Amino acid sequence: MKQTFNLIATAAAGLEAVVGREIKDLGIERQVENGRVRFQGDITTVAQTNLWLRAADRIKIVVGEFPARTFEELFQGVFALDWENYLPLGAKFPVAKAKCVRSKLHNEPSVQAITKKAIVKKLQSYFHRPEGVPLQETGAEFRIEISIHKNQAMVMIDTTGESLFKRGYRTDKGGAPIKENMAAAIIMLSNWYPDKPFIDPTCGSGTFCIEAAMIGMNIAPGFNRDFAFEAWPWVDKELVEAVREEADSKANYDIELDIMGTDIDSRMIEVAKNNALEAGLADVIKLKQMRLQDLKTDKINGVIISNPPYGERLLDDKAVDILYNEMGQTFAPLRTWSKFILTSDENFEQKYGTVADKKRKLYNGTLRVDLYQYFGQRVKRSEM
Ligand code: SAH
Repeated sequence: MKQTFNLIATAAAGLEAVVGREIKDLGIERQVENGRVRFQGDITTVAQTNLWLRAADRIKIVVGEFPARTFEELFQGVFALDWENYLPLGAKFPVAKAKCVRSKLHNEPSVQAITKKAIVKKLQSYFHRPEGVPLQETGAEFRIEISIHKNQAMVMIDTTGESLFKRGYRTDKGGAPIKENMAAAIIMLSNWYPDKPFIDPTCGSGTFCIEAAMIGMNIAPGFNRDFAFEAWPWVDKELVEAVREEADSKANYDIELDIMGTDIDSRMIEVAKNNALEAGLADVIKLKQMRLQDLKTDKINGVIISNPPYGERLLDDKAVDILYNEMGQTFAPLRTWSKFILTSDENFEQKYGTVADKKRKLYNGTLRVDLYQYFGQRVKRSEM
């Protein structure tokens, strides 16, 4: 079986650079592209990136890339790849996804079917199985994906399984949760450090608070879940266990954190508490019911991250206008605090009353949103 792999970490549009930085911080050379980051490594690298990347969606092995303008070219291209180095006899290998963009081949179901056929043929010939007799697919699953972009095919095996944003701590989510990897990315984009106070005044199910606590304690985001590659028969379980153990040893549970989540809805506070409990962080995160309009603090140099209701989602337009206006008034006295507000409302700044220092375009699922960034004025307590 293969020792080193060409790998990609996929990322939501706008978060590629964040994922790129995380990979660099693991000590791995990487190349940032649209929607993904490329790197190379062995099975330890696969384990490390699945376990540690907070902002990525999935880690995939790139089996090969080749031009595919016709079905024949596609078939031959897939057939030529060294599938025998990945798929043992008995492997389950659904071609789960095909995506064609700006290419001659655009019928995705056909692309999927041809890809499957070519892999089957290759394995039948490699394992000396009679043609026409289907391969038994009763073993571990290797989920295959193919994308054809401008007539260039890329064939991949997913190593992750359920997307990386599923950390395993969510018991319930309320009406409009933010994805865990997006929340982590926004915290990493903010200027929060574990020594600063952190508040999410519209915390809903608690995602930002939980992700901040995991970052603050250096807890690997994947510690509570499994990954698809762990079921592959040729993967050395001891190597993977060593990566998990190393991750456990790197967590710092003793660090003092000041993380608080508040929400107007007491039911959401219950949900957030359950999620924090599930993540093992119930003692670390303060959660309480409160209107954001009532937020006051004497603390300095903190960070507020808020994902308030948007018009399309939870509140009617008028109520949103009033809420954003009151938010502006409530946050204004907190001069030394940085504020990061994620909303799809293009007139947010006008309603809030201040122009953002910086804006960043992101996608919350398919919804285009902006992260409005207001940087706090740095002061020492003696100057207050
Ligand atoms: N990021 C959250 C989702 C936030 S949805 C998550 O991951 O789950 C917006 C939240 O704002 C809702 O939970 C809603 O109850 C809360 N909210 C609405 N108006 C509020 C107000 N005036 N003060 C505090 N919270 C408010």
